[in-house]
This record gives sequence, C-alpha cells and structure tokens, in this order.
Amino acid sequence: MDLDVLLQATKKQLKPERYEHTLRVVDTAVELAKRFGADPFKAEVASILHDYCKFWSREQLTEWIKRCQLPPDLLQYHKEIWHAPVGAEVAREEFGIVDEDILQSIRSHTVGRPSMSILEKVVYLADYIEPGRKFPGVDEVRRLAEIDLDVAVLQAMENTILFLQSQKQPIYPLAIAARDELKRMLS
Ligand code: GDP
Ligand code: FE
Ligand code: FE
Ligand code: FE
Repeated sequence: MDLDVLLQATKKQLKPERYEHTLRVVDTAVELAKRFGADPFKAEVASILHDYCKFWSREQLTEWIKRCQLPPDLLQYHKEIWHAPVGAEVAREEFGIVDEDILQSIRSHTVGRPSMSILEKVVYLADYIEPGRKFPGVDEVRRLAEIDLDVAVLQAMENTILFLQSQKQPIYPLAIAARDELKRMLS
C-alpha cells in the first residue's frame, strides 16, 4: 500500500485545514501506537483515511449507507457521525483495504463502540488530542494519554457525551454503550 497515494487522494477530498488536521492525527496516532503496542503502519493508514468523507453531501453519504447496508438508525442521527462508517466502506471499495482492524478504526473513530481494539482506541484518541484540538478538558486527556490508553479514551468519550448533551444533541446509542463498557471495565 502506497501511503503517498492515500495522502494525495485524501488531500483532494478535504479543505486545507481539515487535511492539516488529518496529518496531525497521523503523527499523533503513530506515536500512540508505538506507546501502547498497536501497529504504527496500520495506525497511519487508518488515520490518513479517517475523515475522507467529512465533506461529502448528505445525499452521497445516505446513498452509501443504504447501498452498503450500514445500520439504518444512523440516518436518524446527526449527519456528522456518518462520515466514519462510510469512510470504512470507501477505504475497502476504493483503496482495496481489507485489514478489518484498519477498517474498524475508521468506522469507530467518531462515536467509538464497545470492545474496541488497541488500534481503534489509538485512532479515536489521536483524533481527539491532536495538537490542533482545543476542546475543554483536552489537556487533561493529553496528560492521561501519556500513561493509560483506556483511561484517556474513557475521558474523551465522557467529555464528548457531556458536550453533546449540553448542546441538546441526541447521542448515538453506540457512544453510550462504548462509554459504559469502558467504565465498567475500569471500575
Ligand atoms: P472530526 O471528524 O475530526 O471533526 O471528529 P469526529 O469524527 O470525532 O466527530 C465529528 C462530530 O461528530 C463532532 O462534532 C462530534 O461532536 C460529533 N459526534 C460525536 N459523537 C456523536 C454522537 O453520538 N451524536 C452526535 N449527534 N454527534 C456526535
Ligand atoms: Fe471524523
Ligand atoms: Fe473523534
Ligand atoms: Fe478527525
């Protein structure tokens, strides 16, 4: 797999600032992969493609969700969460990626899911803590990410859910399930 091909294809899909975000997620994910024992190359591939569909139209995303038989309940939730599962399908169909862990890491980078692999957690966390992010509480998660992958991911999930609730946004059920499972595992 030629990473330059993936990078150039991704660059064409994204606005410049979003492409810069992607490059920072790549660097952060490779660092986290080395720290926590995931495959740095897989982390790089998943990170390059994670936001590939970020600027696709509602219509295009809906078409892929239906054709690929992705969970139909996605369509009842915020469009912002669609680019992750669709991105995994694009990675498979357009770039021939077959590694399920890479595909799953793209798929779960926005809401997470229960029983995430180390690679999935690495990509999820890298997306949350890359140096350009300015969420309230992100510095605490960056600090936790030096020490404990699970604790850091749980804190990122908690922060996201609390933020969305404060905005009166519906939370996708998988996000709650992911948070609850990790919390149980750590208690
Ligand atoms: P980005 O693509 O790098 O901006 O980051 P993400 O893919 O992690 O998140 C995309 C957007 O989805 C953000 O605005 C999140 O706040 C939002 N989001 C994450 N989880 C949920 C959820 O469960 N429900 C809703 N409505 N939005 C969510
Ligand atoms: Fe995203
Ligand atoms: Fe995220
Ligand atoms: Fe992202």
